[in-house]
Parts: sequence; structure tokens; C-alpha cells
Amino acid sequence: MRIAIGGIDHEANTYAQGHTRLDAFAILRGEAMLPTRTMETHVGGAVRTCEVRGVTPIPLLYAQAQPSGTIERETYSHLRDELIDRLTDALPVEGVVLCLHGADVVDGIPDLEGDLCRHVRDLVGDHIPVVAVFDLHGNVTQAMADSLNGMFPCHQYPHIDFHERAREAMDLVIRQASEGWRGRCDVVRLPMLLPTTTTFEGIGAEILAEVLEREDRSGLPDLSWFHGFPHSDVPHVGSFIVATSRQGEGREQAMTVAAKLWAKREAFRVHSLDGAQSVQKAKALVVSGVEGPVVINETSNNCGGGAPGDGTHLRRAMLDAGLGTEAYFGFIVDPVTAAQAHRAGTSNVIEITLGGRTDTLHGAPNVTSVCVKSLSDGRLVLQAMMKGAPLNLGPMARLVIDGMDVVVASRRSQTFDPEPFLALGIDVRRYRYVALKSSNLFRAGFREIAGAIVTADTPGLVTQNIAVFPRQSTREPLWPLDARALFKEGNPV
Ligand SMILES: [Zn+2]
Repeated sequence: MRIAIGGIDHEANTYAQGHTRLDAFAILRGEAMLPTRTMETHVGGAVRTCEVRGVTPIPLLYAQAQPSGTIERETYSHLRDELIDRLTDALPVEGVVLCLHGADVVDGIPDLEGDLCRHVRDLVGDHIPVVAVFDLHGNVTQAMADSLNGMFPCHQYPHIDFHERAREAMDLVIRQASEGWRGRCDVVRLPMLLPTTTTFEGIGAEILAEVLEREDRSGLPDLSWFHGFPHSDVPHVGSFIVATSRQGEGREQAMTVAAKLWAKREAFRVHSLDGAQSVQKAKALVVSGVEGPVVINETSNNCGGGAPGDGTHLRRAMLDAGLGTEAYFGFIVDPVTAAQAHRAGTSNVIEITLGGRTDTLHGAPNVTSVCVKSLSDGRLVLQAMMKGAPLNLGPMARLVIDGMDVVVASRRSQTFDPEPFLALGIDVRRYRYVALKSSNLFRAGFREIAGAIVTADTPGLVTQNIAVFPRQSTREPLWPLDARALFKEGNPV
């Protein structure tokens, strides 16, 4: 049996400046996808499962970029055409597994995944099972559901289960191809902008448990919750329950879970702390004797949601609060400062203009003198979420500013785990305060380190205060922006 594997994987924050172009993508073509088998990613999980099941993987193309602005039309056409050409050359195959995000937007196409899935379906025909693995932050459309025989978003946020979900997707494709049936996807959409919510605890964990318990009890091939991505001005934005079934029998289960989620929506409402408030809360926790560092995550400046990562609001608040030598801040994406530090070398003092290079929203640059403490090439391997996958942050530097250790990196990324800091000789356990830029993915790498976690929501592109973003594409009232928001059977998808 031959199963094709491929995908385009990018999350578009439609409020981010500029378009995402071809040079932003890391592209694996053909055989170059196979070494991912050891990585806990969706492509890795799909390849590995083929090998375990004795199926021949047919690797097409996998293009991945950091979350950023809407994709340029020409870039998407280029990637899609190459993927479709490669699939055409690979035919016949017995099935297809696509590795996608779910919240990607192209200039003029509000639903990249729907468009791509339709192209794949048109090529292979209705008799070949096509199943996709997604990030749970996808905004689902009917076009995706109509083109696919199974939809598998990761369940967890942090996304520690991409490889396991890819295994389930591959298993289902093999099953459908062997048994001669084709799965059906039913989508129930909730008209809500769900704030970033971890599934490791609280209401996120509660709803996920409900989904999994109902999937187990119903015997459905899959029942899943797409949280959706609120930082996207598309008509289909929302939160979604998706059922994969044989003949549509999953719709009722999806409706039941969706109704529960809607009834509990107020539990998702965010009460944001600004920079100064989050630092004060962290200080109170330290005073109360919490064991281990207090991690302050600046969610609003999270590259993982499309922010530039060079914001200075939280760092300014920490300096103003006099945290100094007890505090660590990392990392700020600032290739100019990183290059300057590498030129100067360690133990030298340099004058820098730190951060705030992309726009004024995320805070003003900070002109200061710093001592260069250590340097790294920024080539890392992830150790928590997506374990085993490479991460290239470009030249990095550890700087000391007014007694505070501050790390700069050259390439955009959020903080997944402590690896960037270990590379610079930093043991984050030794600090009372550890500040980083991430919304929730960092929890996978910091859950055994953090004594407590405080979320800072400074002004930024990924703020949880989503009311600040204008919406042109909205077609109905959305919770929590509008009290008239209404969930009902038959909400348009
Ligand atoms: Zn995500």
C-alpha cells in the first residue's frame, strides 16, 4: 500500500504587517521528509506510522513557516502547484495524509486549507481516502470537511500530541483503504472567539476530557475540538467541534459537546494583567514563598501567534520594578543586536538599541549599554513539544543589562522549552523571575520548572483583549465581543 504525505503548514495572523512570502518557508521535498520519522511532529508521526504498519510512504512536499501575516497569492500558488504536481507524478496511491495548520489565509483566499484539500480531492477522486492532521487553532470550513475523510487536530495545547494524532490519521487512512469505506466529517461551529486556553488545566482540560470521553463512549473514529484562531479576520472564525464518522452519525455527539462548551463560555473569559500588574503578581508569589521560579509569559508578543517577538513592554516593567539580578528575560528577537554582540565578542561592553524595531505597538526600543556574556549559533533541537525537531534561532547572545540577564535571538520563534537558554549557559531554575514570550506552548517545557505562571498581556498583536482588533469579515455577533452572540443548530460553517 502506498500513502502520500504532504502539506503546507502556516498560521496567518491577518492583523500582522506585510505578506508572508516564499522565503519565509522551510521546504522539505520528497525523500528529505523521511528523516522526520524520529520527530514528534505530524509529518514525523505519519512517516513513522507508515514504517510501523508496513506501508510505503510517498513523501510529496512539506512547507512550513513561522506564524505571520497573510500569505502572498503567488507564494501559495507556487507551493500548491508543486504539491499537486508531485502527487500527480506519484499516482496511483491508496490514500493521502495532509499535514496542515487550519488557520491559514492567502491574499484573496480566506481558507488555504479548504482550497488545498479541494485540489487534492479533485485530483485523486472520491474513491481514495484523504485525511488531514491539523493544529487545534484551525478555523474550520465546510470546504475542508467536504474534501476530507477524517480530520485530526492535535488535542493538547501545548501541542505535545502532533505525532500521535498523525498516527491516528494514518491508521484511519489505512483502515478505510483496506475496508473500502470513506469517512465523513461533520462540523459544528460556535460563534465565539476563544481566548488562548491551555488544555493542561482548568476549563480547557475539562472540555477536552468531555470530548475524549464522548468519543470513547460513542465508538466514533474521532471527535475533536478545534479551539479556532481569533487573530484572524475571516468570516468563518470561531471554535469548532468536528466528528469523523462512517455515515454522519457523529453530528449529534458534536452538537452535544458544542452545547456544553457554549454553556461554559464565561469560564474562558480572560482578565488580563498588563506588564506592571503581572510583575506585581509575580512579586507577591515570590514573597509568599512559592518554590521554583515564577514564569511570566508575555502572551501578547508571542511569535507563535504572528507577533514580531521584539516587544519591550514587559522587560520595561521588570526594570521599573527593580527585579535586576533575580530576573531573566528571554528571548527578544533582534537580529541587529545579536549580530552586534557577535562582532564584539564576549566580555565586551557595547551600546545597543534593543527591540521595538518592527512597529510601535509592541513598545519602544531601549537604548542602553550591555555586557556580552555568552554567544550561541542558535541551532537547537526541541526537547519538549515537537521533541527531536530542529529549531534554528540564528545567532544568539546573552546580555547583562542593569544586572538582568537578557537573551536576544535572530530568527522569529516563541519559547518552547529551556534549550535556547541552556545553549547560552543559563539554568533558568536559578532565577526568581523568568520572563518569556509565548502563550501556552512553553508550558510543555516549563511545567516541571515553574513554581507558578503569571500571564502578561501587554499591548501586542496576540493580545487576549481581542476587542481591540477591527473586524470587517464578521457575519454574525461573536462572543465575547457581542452579547447577542447565539449558538444554535445549523450555524453556518
Ligand atoms: Zn496552535
